[in-house]
Amino acid sequence: MKTLLISLCFLGVALAQESAVIIGGGPAGLSAAIWAARFNLKPLVIEGAQDETFPSFLVENYPGFPDGIDRDHFIALLKTQAKKQGARFQQGWVTVLEKTDDFQINLSDGSKIFSKAVIIATGRRKIRLGLEKEVEFLGKGIGICPLCEGPLYQGEIVAVTGDGEEAKREACLLSEWAKQVIVFGTISGPFPENVIVYPEKEVIELVGDELEGLTHLVIQDKHTLMRDVFETHGLFIAKGWTPNTAFLHGLLQQDEMGYILTKGLSSQTSLKGAFSAGDVSTKENHQLVLAVASGCRAALDIKEYLNHEKDPSIPIVDNLLERESYSSYGSQL
Ligand SMILES: Cc1cc2nc3c(=O)[nH]c(=O)nc-3n(C[C@H](O)[C@H](O)[C@H](O)COP(=O)(O)OP(=O)(O)OC[C@H]3O[C@@H](n4cnc5c(N)ncnc54)[C@H](O)[C@@H]3O)c2cc1C
Repeated sequence: MKTLLISLCFLGVALAQESAVIIGGGPAGLSAAIWAARFNLKPLVIEGAQDETFPSFLVENYPGFPDGIDRDHFIALLKTQAKKQGARFQQGWVTVLEKTDDFQINLSDGSKIFSKAVIIATGRRKIRLGLEKEVEFLGKGIGICPLCEGPLYQGEIVAVTGDGEEAKREACLLSEWAKQVIVFGTISGPFPENVIVYPEKEVIELVGDELEGLTHLVIQDKHTLMRDVFETHGLFIAKGWTPNTAFLHGLLQQDEMGYILTKGLSSQTSLKGAFSAGDVSTKENHQLVLAVASGCRAALDIKEYLNHEKDPSIPIVDNLLERESYSSYGSQL
């Protein structure tokens, strides 16, 4: 490895050798950074980029903020706290993660970072409709998280586009706040009576303006191609989510949807030294408080792994790897 590093330095390739690299600067990655820094691991966080499908929003359910907190502000606070503890940050987008002796992290600008261990906290993203103005209207009528944004549509008529279980789940959830939920797609019952389904119709255009956001949809019948206008200030896209794992290229075990699999109650992935936290390895219940908690778990795991690697006589004390049975919530975190 040393020879490889020296030869690459001669070739002018930017290199760095780290102990703990955290990929992803969202709540899970930043929480992992705070904890790893407190363990003196001097973590390096590769921040990624603001996802255009992930607009800021008011978080009203994070404990400790009775008046809510803007998501971007929350992220900025976590980052400040991580920096204060000694975490370092680098802007960058990981394109490939490989493992030889150490992990090799390739960034989109051509630079490479080597690390003894990594925490992957790259989150997930919503699959888009691909319609014009879709990104522009995010948070201004286009919704992607009914659990978070649903209460904003109290007593209104909202639409859902998508099929199957996800569309049904979103419609049912929205029906708790909305007066009526119209589904453009196919879902099977039973569902609440304020949910109305149009399996033969699809959304083909989003209409509105900068000031008001989304005001109405253009709907088309799949068979007759007849078009119609549907007035609404809320359309929820239920086309599925995909975890941000393109850079893994099969390095780790993932489930059929691409979520990273972890062992037992730990953050240990199928590859020694690689840990994962947050939405990228969580199929259900995607919430900030859970992402933050799993970041802490990953930092505890990476600390134990690095200590053990340095001196194998140090046991992995809090070994959750094999613990598959129920345990109290406190002992999971
Ligand atoms: C619209 C919306 C509203 C929500 N509202 C709430 C709410 O009110 N309350 C609540 O508790 N939860 C809410 N959530 C859920 C919550 O935001 C997520 O559970 C949480 O952000 C997950 O954190 P994470 O760190 O795992 O992933 P993310 O927040 O997605 O962060 C992942 C990070 O990884 C980076 N990244 C991705 N790929 C790469 C790569 N290849 N290289 C480098 N970096 C990369 C990204 O740029 C990003 O910085 C909401 C979600 C959405 C979409």
